[in-house]
Amino acid sequence: MDLILLGAPGAGKGTQGSRLAETLGIPKVATGDILRESVREKTPLGLKAKEYMDAGELVPDEVILGLVHDALASPAAENGVIFDGFPRNVKQAEDLGRILEKAGRRVDGVIVLEVPDDAIVERMSGRRTDPDTGLVYHVVHNPPPAEVAGRVIQRADDHEDTVRHRLKVYAEQTAPLISFYEREGAVVSRVDGTREINEVQAEILRVLRP
Ligand code: ADP
Ligand code: ADP
Repeated sequence: MDLILLGAPGAGKGTQGSRLAETLGIPKVATGDILRESVREKTPLGLKAKEYMDAGELVPDEVILGLVHDALASPAAENGVIFDGFPRNVKQAEDLGRILEKAGRRVDGVIVLEVPDDAIVERMSGRRTDPDTGLVYHVVHNPPPAEVAGRVIQRADDHEDTVRHRLKVYAEQTAPLISFYEREGAVVSRVDGTREINEVQAEILRVLRP
């Protein structure tokens, strides 16, 4: 089963994607996580991506497509994946369609996490990530356990100005994917992402397994 988690930055894609991956037993492919790892390791790809990420702009499509190609070639991905943060524009969505089609697969579902902009800014300022596991926490809504709290980090692009710019990029380039997939006849489910994390998770499972 190939699923796409769609939603503004901070809508909860990473949080729900990790939980869904565990529940469904299929891997999560988070292009943002892959990029941040390349930045940390200072690979040529990471060095190229960093300036776009710091500015809150999208990294060029050909870079992203290469990453997704590699991720889908892994044996772990053969029964499907959960895409978090990809596709981000219509070009990426069209390319994904072609890649999946070659493998006899298709987008089986699109989950749209809906959260208004004001809530997003508050979420991003409190977001912390465990660099060892990649798990995402929030200082108020989902505090890290004591043994993890000492090592969590704040993302460089989670400051208010960059967040506001990323929201604009989302509205202009990514939100049109909702109608793109509706036109394609994919199953698109809108989920209220403002509710408590466990309630959002339960709602996603309800729409996937009616
Ligand atoms: P968030 O979870 O806040 O939406 P991501 O971790 O998905 O953020 O992405 C962080 C940054 O990485 C984006 O602002 C963008 O620069 C880059 N990025 C991630 N995924 C993509 C993608 N599919 N296409 C282009 N750029 C991407
Ligand atoms: P995305 O991957 O869409 O950018 P994240 O999963 O990283 O979003 O979540 C952004 C921040 O909001 C994190 O600090 C996370 O702990 C917090 N968060 C996620 N879901 C909820 C929720 N339902 N209610 C409150 N905070 C949440």
